[in-house]
Amino acid sequence: MMYYLNAMFTAYKYRMYPSESQKDLLEKHFGSCRFAWNYFLALHNKKYTEEGKGITFKEMGKELTLLKRNEEYGWLNEANSQSLQASLMNLDTAFNRFFRTLGGFPNFKKKNQSQSFAVPQHFHIDGNRIYIPKFNKPLRIFEHRDYSGKERNLTISREPSGEYYVSILVLEPDIETQQKPVKAESTIGIDLGIKKFVTLSNGVQINKPNHIKRSEKKLVKAQRLLSRKGKGSKNRQKQRTKVARVQGHISNQRNDFLNKVSDVITKVYDTVVIEDLNVRGMLRNHHLARSISDAGWYTFTSMLKAKALKRGKNIIEIGRFDPSTKMCSHCGNIKDDLKLSERTYHCDVCGLTINRDLNASINIKRFGLISLALPTDSGEVTPVDSYTNTLKLLEREGIGASVLEEAGSPRL
Ligand SMILES: [Zn+2]
Repeated sequence: MMYYLNAMFTAYKYRMYPSESQKDLLEKHFGSCRFAWNYFLALHNKKYTEEGKGITFKEMGKELTLLKRNEEYGWLNEANSQSLQASLMNLDTAFNRFFRTLGGFPNFKKKNQSQSFAVPQHFHIDGNRIYIPKFNKPLRIFEHRDYSGKERNLTISREPSGEYYVSILVLEPDIETQQKPVKAESTIGIDLGIKKFVTLSNGVQINKPNHIKRSEKKLVKAQRLLSRKGKGSKNRQKQRTKVARVQGHISNQRNDFLNKVSDVITKVYDTVVIEDLNVRGMLRNHHLARSISDAGWYTFTSMLKAKALKRGKNIIEIGRFDPSTKMCSHCGNIKDDLKLSERTYHCDVCGLTINRDLNASINIKRFGLISLALPTDSGEVTPVDSYTNTLKLLEREGIGASVLEEAGSPRL
């Protein structure tokens, strides 16, 4: 998988050697596109002097269709219609640039200048053969193509010297956003919680900031007051505005917090394993489902996904039936009678005693790796670097975090 969010286009230009019959057809394209440009530039100027406004791209398109039906201009049909369209679009862009004072007024194109036409779609490049619409045989280049991105657009040109070129616009993979490989040592599992916002599989726990907790209390109070105001009363309207204001404030504070946490995580780790939230909410009770939405888990996971995409990092979502909470992260024993109130997981089979959320996050990481058929690193010591780095970055953002003492134990 590759993602190119920071799109970067580069044009690669190669000398082309058309055959004599291809030269004829190329000339028809140059001529038709030049005609379209000049025709509509003249029409625009005429309309502008008469009506005080120019011609729109849509109007040009309609007019072009009429022209092509007119016998006198029937030769326009010999050229690829998308190349003609592209000429109109270029002209429209030139007008827009001019009116925004970014460029000069478009000029008429002359026969003795360099000629060109664009092939925006339906082309195909195979080795050094370039297939474009209206051409039965491919056009040839004799240079090795030295790019690796995806081709988006072609422009074919003839210089006044008589040399032909093709310029290929390529969407380049940004070096910084090359997708990172999934490896156990750079993968982190995340357990989302109510008391602790997240517990990472290396033992780092991130707390929800106190200022958000204070605002949440304020909101509960404001909502309670609202419910006491008489329906339709002026005071109720006033209180409703107050509630909305507190809600807006909380959502800003939350987004800021979630942004920072997701930023740190996607910076430090190459692969992040999370649980599918849709499921988690449904499996548990109604009260908890509400806490899930209040805690901002949905926002958090979508931020994680967006940031991972941007940085070339991986997100693995594990499925609904993976027993992340009930399974012992050391021996795999499933404890069916684990209660929600038990904050420590104690395994009756191997004797492991571990923080419940840490146990879950280690399992989440493991399920994620297994789902890709990759080896897990169970039994190894958690690399200390991974959490010291996380803590350092979180501290810089002013976010409280701690490390569970079980972390770094050879068991994990
Ligand atoms: Zn066990």
